[in-house]
Amino acid sequence: MAAPPWIGAHVSAAGGVELAPARGAEIGATCMQVFTANQRQWEPRPLTDSQVEAWWELCPLNGIERVVVHASYLANMSAIEEDKLSKSRDAMILELERSQRLGVHGVVLHPGSHMGAGEDAGNRAVADSLSDVLERTEDLCGPLICGKKEEAVRILLENTAGQGSNLGWRFEHLADIRRHLKAEHRERVGTCLDTCHTFAAGYDISTKAGWNATWREFDDIVGLDTVGALHLNDSKRECGSRRDRHDGIGKGEIGETAFRMLMHDERFHHIPMALETPSGMEGWAEEIALLRDWAAVAAP
Ligand SMILES: [Zn+2]
Ligand SMILES: [Zn+2]
Repeated sequence: MAAPPWIGAHVSAAGGVELAPARGAEIGATCMQVFTANQRQWEPRPLTDSQVEAWWELCPLNGIERVVVHASYLANMSAIEEDKLSKSRDAMILELERSQRLGVHGVVLHPGSHMGAGEDAGNRAVADSLSDVLERTEDLCGPLICGKKEEAVRILLENTAGQGSNLGWRFEHLADIRRHLKAEHRERVGTCLDTCHTFAAGYDISTKAGWNATWREFDDIVGLDTVGALHLNDSKRECGSRRDRHDGIGKGEIGETAFRMLMHDERFHHIPMALETPSGMEGWAEEIALLRDWAAVAAP
């Protein structure tokens, strides 16, 4: 079977986001995930016109056909304190504006932490924040790297491992958040599936049967048609540990079978897949090659 067309990694944007495409090419990536700005700053320096121009030139030149952005970890869309909440929403608006200029099709966002308010209240708070952010960016639209017609960048809610009071570890949370949104906003909110988070949250994708059952469940509850990005990570911790510890592909508790299954699961092949393993540039080049090799041999 042909390998999925878009496999890559979260590559560094150190020195400027326009330097990322060449790093993607170096590891044999056809897609990538990036941060658009320093993750530790609430108000990062805006992108310059020349950076954006270079980006649009360098993505195709380096064979990068799909890109997603990962939003800042500082933002919490269900923050309790008024100040933190408004800062988080403003930061997300800036992120969407930067991402739209870069023509990426999605901004991956961890839903948030309920900070003791409980999961139902937390999901409602996330939806309120998303509604505000989407309302205030309703004019955003533009050309996308993936060559689609002018479109608004989407928010992709990532499922989480469920550490602490993190929301989004149960598929129901993602469904709830989307359900609370107005229909026109819901169109701009998809999902991102992280294999490590899925497994750590208690969905055992390590076997063929578990792989199939998990995605059937996700499809019933949230819908596979919402998925705009995949994060490929093995897990250092066991299924249900609710600990977020990424491992190299095939090296952790998930093991090879899940990733071999993915390489043969055509439901996911139109979706960009980014490694977030601790393997580094050389390791990512090997993992991308390994995944493509698995696509070329029989399914498990
Ligand atoms: Zn993430
Ligand atoms: Zn992830």
